[in-house]
Amino acid sequence: MTGPAARLVVLAGPTAVGKGTVAAAVRERHPDVWISVSATTRPPRPGEVDGVHYWFVSEAEFDRLVAEDQMLEWAVVHGRHRYGTPRGPVEEALAAGRPSLLEIDLQGARQVRASMPDALFVFLKPPSWDELVRRLVGRGTESDEERTRRLETAVAELAAEPEFDVSIVNHEVHAAADELVALMTARA
Ligand code: 5GP
Repeated sequence: MTGPAARLVVLAGPTAVGKGTVAAAVRERHPDVWISVSATTRPPRPGEVDGVHYWFVSEAEFDRLVAEDQMLEWAVVHGRHRYGTPRGPVEEALAAGRPSLLEIDLQGARQVRASMPDALFVFLKPPSWDELVRRLVGRGTESDEERTRRLETAVAELAAEPEFDVSIVNHEVHAAADELVALMTARA
């Protein structure tokens, strides 16, 4: 892409680092940024709205989206449910010139890297390992077994940082969101 074209930014990082919270802060503070709504087979949590937080779809519907090549990327996350980025809306947002954000897991980021190498890949990292553990435990929504599994995943995920173009340390959510948007709106 040349000139002041919209930039596609892919935000990934270890589990519990706060990717979702940073994306929510971007949504609140920077309405000019378009944020992809993923499709997932996970059931909604209380307060989650279809079409806002995710498109909540059945296994059969997800199969159809994949079979029809409507997913830009997709992955099984935490060994459970499938999550994916619908391709059409991303292409439309970029064509309309909007800076666009995907908040996805590492497997998905690698797929987008393969298909859209011009995107900017941003790694959100915790201030320290201890802080990541604290955030994971602090969330308090997982069982001991699940927490152990997620910590093991986090070790592998942290090792992926060198695959990314830029890292942002999530010391504080609003600062991280502003830093991300500054990168998105920077002209090449
Ligand atoms: P949660 O179930 O807590 O909303 O999300 C779990 C994980 O799924 C997060 O790490 C999030 O980054 C990832 N995720 C959300 N949407 C997508 C997507 O469209 N594709 C991929 N690959 N991962 C996603």
